Amino acid sequence: MKTNSCANLHPQSMCPAFGGLRVLTRIEGARVCLVADQGCLYGLTFVSHFYAARRSIVAPELMNVQISGGTMIDDLRATIEQIAEDPAVTCIPVVSTCVAETAGIAEELLPDKAGNAFVQLVRLPAFQIKSHPEAKDVAVSTLLGRFGDFGAPKRKRSLLVVGEIFPVDAMAIGSVLQRIGVESVIALPGADLEDYMEAGKAEACAILHPFYEKTASLLEKKGVRIISGNPVGAGATAEWIERVGQALDLDMEVVRRVVTEEKEKAAAVIEKYGNLSGKVIVAGYEGNELPIVRLLLEAGLDVPYASTSIAQTALGEEDHQLLSMLGTEIRYRKYLEEDMKAVVKYEPDLVIGTTSLDSFAKERGIPAIYYTNNISSRPVFFAAGAGTVLGMVAGLLGRKDVFRKMKEYFTTLP
Ligand code: SF4
Repeated sequence: MKTNSCANLHPQSMCPAFGGLRVLTRIEGARVCLVADQGCLYGLTFVSHFYAARRSIVAPELMNVQISGGTMIDDLRATIEQIAEDPAVTCIPVVSTCVAETAGIAEELLPDKAGNAFVQLVRLPAFQIKSHPEAKDVAVSTLLGRFGDFGAPKRKRSLLVVGEIFPVDAMAIGSVLQRIGVESVIALPGADLEDYMEAGKAEACAILHPFYEKTASLLEKKGVRIISGNPVGAGATAEWIERVGQALDLDMEVVRRVVTEEKEKAAAVIEKYGNLSGKVIVAGYEGNELPIVRLLLEAGLDVPYASTSIAQTALGEEDHQLLSMLGTEIRYRKYLEEDMKAVVKYEPDLVIGTTSLDSFAKERGIPAIYYTNNISSRPVFFAAGAGTVLGMVAGLLGRKDVFRKMKEYFTTLP
């Protein structure tokens, strides 16, 4: 298969700024001011609304005449003032993107506040931030840096949880944390600017996804203990609960009792799918793929190849080591061409991939589903999460003959 070297120059994932917009448009009272050219503006407002942001995104007109005529900053300031006329607006994130002139906007030239609203520059150029998950990290760390109340005394037994998760997962996490004695939990990215302020008072922070590196580093500098890992699969669930207990100095007898209960529940679910066998390729661009691979391996499946759009990170190092030891070939900042080569090389029974890779796999009669819609939008944590993921995979593996027959049908049509 030919690899197009030009295509390899770009990580081929969604526009990174989209990840930041997901974080920023979610905040109550926030109205984003996007400083981008018309192409970016069209694409980014389209995807944001497609993913149900239901918030206006405002932008100053930015054509050649404004850029070369030197009025860009004045136009931007005027747009900010205009947005601030709405008293319901309490925060104006100013998002700069790839256009060189906007990427280099001087923060000092923007107001700190306009009307009722805080104004905050968030730089999201794709040439620097290579994937949309990493742009979420930039947005969260920028907001925390500006609004986090790090000067206030820390709240005892309080935990900040960072990671975009399915609502059922949030409930499961909340219930386990309550049972081990955690007294307050804040989850980011959140819908309330106040959560970013309160986050500064947390004693420790559980970073559920490995790409929140800037956020972790900022919190660590401010004296917040960082807990890596996530409760996906039986072994990691036990480890994660224990780490939270230790970081918050909880009653370890109570913590270990919950550890045992949760580990047994997750192990029982994995055991239920113990007769699963097959070769699965996982190739998403969400940055949370490796824990899912870990779960599949724990259930006895073979995962010869996994890929993601994010870079290799220190927070994901444990998974990297474990998966590599268990024989999974891992690609960071992957290209579609690499994923396609892996499908040809490993001939999997199931592909959990990006839309383009899925089409490629289906053309070969291989069952394939879209990672984002099927994994990122379902619970994955604790026993319940293991059950939904493995149940779905079992169902797809059980129907793999249907795909083969479908391919035969279409290839034998006159
Ligand atoms: S030019 Fe940059 S900001 Fe604009 S859509 Fe492309 S990647 Fe996104």
